[in-house]
Amino acid sequence: MTTYGMLIDIDRCTGCYNCFLSCKDEYCGNNYEGYSAPQPEFNQYWMDIREIERGKYPKVKVDYIPIPCMQCKNAPCEKAALDGAVYRREDGIVMIDPVKAKGQNQIVTACPYRVIFWNEELELPQKCTFCAHGLDHGWKMPRCVEACPVDALVFGDLDDPNSEISKLKDSGKYERLNSEYALNTRVQYLNLPKRFIAGEVVLADQPDECAEGVTVSLKQDDKAVSTSTTNVYGDFEFDGLKKNVEYTVVVEKKGYGSVECVANTRVDVNLGEIELRPE
Ligand code: SF4
Ligand code: SF4
Repeated sequence: MTTYGMLIDIDRCTGCYNCFLSCKDEYCGNNYEGYSAPQPEFNQYWMDIREIERGKYPKVKVDYIPIPCMQCKNAPCEKAALDGAVYRREDGIVMIDPVKAKGQNQIVTACPYRVIFWNEELELPQKCTFCAHGLDHGWKMPRCVEACPVDALVFGDLDDPNSEISKLKDSGKYERLNSEYALNTRVQYLNLPKRFIAGEVVLADQPDECAEGVTVSLKQDDKAVSTSTTNVYGDFEFDGLKKNVEYTVVVEKKGYGSVECVANTRVDVNLGEIELRPE
């Protein structure tokens, strides 16, 4: 058996849009009978790159999240379709039948990931097929995966324990986007954006120097979660934190009084300047 899946590493993705463009190149104006009707040039993003901005100036982070069809095992689009217009192949790829699905607009709204697009001209719901037409003719991967210059996308057979994708997935570090949907998606992510707490340390007796190498610890319920040191600019940052948690940040340097700050990750937090005074 083969079950296709994709792993996406957000830390690697630079937002170059090569995957999106290769998808356009593959599908715009091209009809793959039995697989997909031509993708319109505009307003369809079978590989959608969503830009996420976190924090506030001057501590701002930008991440790009490539979002294809998640190839859900429990696919709501399949349930919403009439007459078997959406079906799952033996290899796990969820397909929209370009003939049977004509006029079935309800399929578009059934997808919580918003990756199905309505083609006004053809009256057809359309989406990513993992390039099923190519895989059936010997391709090893979809065009988007091939086009990624930084290997942010990994594609392969989840049933093969020796495949790269299986080995990576076995690391246990990957997670599903919007896992609360509980759709058992075959696309999973590494380094999805979480919350961060950042700040800058200054020394009261050396206002013109950057406070490099100051120890900064993060605690939750009085237990140490992580420790870091300030960089050459006196900055520190803890990323990948859970949402809605109250943390305590402890800043310490020998010869100076320590400072504690409380930060709640309802949002990303910039603690600003934290001043240490000599003891
Ligand atoms: S991501 Fe959306 S379109 Fe893809 S299988 Fe899941 S519900 Fe269907
Ligand atoms: S091609 Fe790769 S790096 Fe570029 S946007 Fe797509 S996933 Fe990100």
